[in-house]
Amino acid sequence: MSVAVQICRSCRTQFFPPRLRCACCQACAFDEALVRTAVIEDITTIRTRRPDDASRGYLALVVTERNLRLLARLDRCCSPGAQVRLQVAADGAIAAFAEGGADPCGGDDGGSPA
Ligand SMILES: [Zn+2]
Repeated sequence: MSVAVQICRSCRTQFFPPRLRCACCQACAFDEALVRTAVIEDITTIRTRRPDDASRGYLALVVTERNLRLLARLDRCCSPGAQVRLQVAADGAIAAFAEGGADPCGGDDGGSPA
């Protein structure tokens, strides 16, 4: 499922998560739109502190076509500027899936202890 965002009927600004009132024009009427793709603006790596767990994950700040920034869990390491497909995961988090391209982290999703 794509990510449902709010669009203010008055000024067309997009919001996620949903709001009761537009932060730009204070209007209270919104439409809903589905966002399917975005572009990665920045990425951070998440590692656990447990010595027996070398796994890691990635969080990405992504920008939609209409300049809405969302925080998404990324399926693998990518470079900023890469296009991703967005979905809402079963736990409600936004998941981003990279579309092709090389993995700048070497494609090792288990990580290696440094
Ligand atoms: Zn507005």
